[in-house]
Amino acid sequence: MVISAPSGGGKSVLRTEIFKKDKRFKFSVTCTTRKKRKGEVQGRDYHFVSDKKFKKLISDKKLLEWAKVHGNLYGTPIKSVRDILKENKIPLMTIDVNGARSVKKYFPDAVTVFILSPSLKILVKRLKLRKESEENIAIRLETAKKEIKEAFFYEYFVVNGKLEKAVENIIKIADCESLKMWRNRDAILKFKKEF
Ligand code: 5GP
Repeated sequence: MVISAPSGGGKSVLRTEIFKKDKRFKFSVTCTTRKKRKGEVQGRDYHFVSDKKFKKLISDKKLLEWAKVHGNLYGTPIKSVRDILKENKIPLMTIDVNGARSVKKYFPDAVTVFILSPSLKILVKRLKLRKESEENIAIRLETAKKEIKEAFFYEYFVVNGKLEKAVENIIKIADCESLKMWRNRDAILKFKKEF
């Protein structure tokens, strides 16, 4: 499952709650050259790496996709997604719009979800609470404007107003998707063989 939300959309809180409530999901930790924010943990929130290391990951073809967001590099290691799939869990990727498009090409059965704050006012408030500089807030709002234009690419839409409701909706999406016939072909074929 790929989740995209303009910065300040409350993605990380949402993510934490999803993992608490539903053990099918596992976070696919991505790499970034951005500096660690207060409260973030190496390897849990991101693999924080140097520019040099990131470029090596690209040249070694270790990344499923990568993008420059707000002046920093971000990328999804292929291995982390594959490892989660091998465990029969749902890799949860919280990446930007370009990343979502690339993942969908690589894994056409990925489910894409666009998350939005209830209003622009709330989005700005959340960014300010995070104590971003005025300059950073402006950059992130500019990106948000561009990302919203891409919203129709996504299959599902969740408003991140009440946290509990948003989590519930993400879980509902996973439930519906997992019930799709084509995702259950193996179970059907196994049953058929038993006749
Ligand atoms: P932040 O710096 O606020 O954590 O993230 C900035 C943006 O980068 C967010 O939209 C986030 O979803 C996106 N992002 C995080 N990891 C990746 C990644 O591996 N690939 C891509 N394409 N975007 C990412």
